[in-house]
Formats: sequence, structure tokens, C-alpha cells
Amino acid sequence: MIKVGVLSLQGAVPEHVLAIRNALKMRDQEGEVVHVRDNKDLVGIDCLIIPGGESTTIGKLLKRFDMYAAIRELASAGVPIMGTCAGCILMAKEGDLDVTRTRTELLGLMDMRVSRNSFGRQKESFESSLRIDGLDDEFPAVFIRGPIIEEVWGRCSSLAEIEGTKVMVKQDNLLALSFHPELSRDARVHRMFLDMVPRT
Ligand code: GLN
Repeated sequence: MIKVGVLSLQGAVPEHVLAIRNALKMRDQEGEVVHVRDNKDLVGIDCLIIPGGESTTIGKLLKRFDMYAAIRELASAGVPIMGTCAGCILMAKEGDLDVTRTRTELLGLMDMRVSRNSFGRQKESFESSLRIDGLDDEFPAVFIRGPIIEEVWGRCSSLAEIEGTKVMVKQDNLLALSFHPELSRDARVHRMFLDMVPRT
């Protein structure tokens, strides 16, 4: 039995819950999804998803509920965390001027610099068939005003790129994606994430 936390302060929460349920089915695994709304919901979870939405808003709510330290502790304890789109921004150690201008506090977990809203405005969202390291066939990746992962260093490395731009990176127990895997009706990325949870 695995407990999957989905940060449920703002953003694409129900879609992640559905994708996790599908990934659990693919793995033939029993599991429970926990809506994480404050620090006590973090207790006992085996992994955490930080969804897409607006990084500015999610950041403000993380601050209001005093959740930064607890999530950083989870990450350093080796608990797998996946940040998608806005979640990807929050995972980064460094952001661009827009992150600074909006005074968004980053969780600062991954050795990467991101640039907000770099893949175009909302109406210019697009889908792209993506080759992802570790998946046999291409993944239909949905981009909605996603960030660009401009640079990675240290232990952070790329799992997928579009025309030389990194769109999915991994650093030990941490994953960050500039797209929305929960919008694809294809739970292979979520399955890959669940594969990162150590078996007990
Ligand atoms: N552009 C948004 C941000 O800066 C992210 C968009 C998304 O999560 N779909 O937070």
C-alpha cells in the first residue's frame, strides 16, 4: 500500500489524482491518494506531486501555510517529488527575472535554472510527441505556458528535450517537467514516478 500526496492548494489537482489511479492500476498496486493542504497531510506519504497552475499563487499559499521547510525536509529524506509546470518552477534553485519580480519563493530543490512562461502564452499551448528516457514509445506531452529549463548542473540531468531545450529532468529522487503529463490520458510518466518510490 502506497500513499501518494498531491499538493492541493491550486492547479491541476484532479487530473493528477486520476493519472495516479491509472498508474497504480498499470503497476497492479494498491494505493491511496492524499490531498495535501497543510503540513500534517505530508506525514506518512511515500511521494509527492506538485501540480501545474500558477507558481506565484502556489508559492503564496505554501508560504501562508508555512510548508516550505517541511517539503524541503521530505526531499532531503529521499522522498520522491515530481513538479509539473508551475511545480517545475517551484522545484528549481534559480528562476528568471519574472520569478524575482513576482517575489516567488522557490523550494530550491533541484540544480536548475528555469524561465517562467517561456513556451508562449496560454492560447499558444501545444502538444508534442516526446521521447523520454526510460519510456519505449513517445509520450504525447501537453504544454501550457510552461517554463523553460534553461540550465542544469550538479546531479540534475535531462530525460527529454524539444529541439535542444530540456523539458524533463531528474535529480536523484526528484523529477521536474515543463509539461502536463496528467492531461495526456497516458499514465506512463506517473508510473515512472511511482517506480521511484523505494519498495518496503
Ligand atoms: N506559467 C505558469 C507559472 O508561471 C505555469 C503554467 C502551468 O502550470 N500550466 O506558474
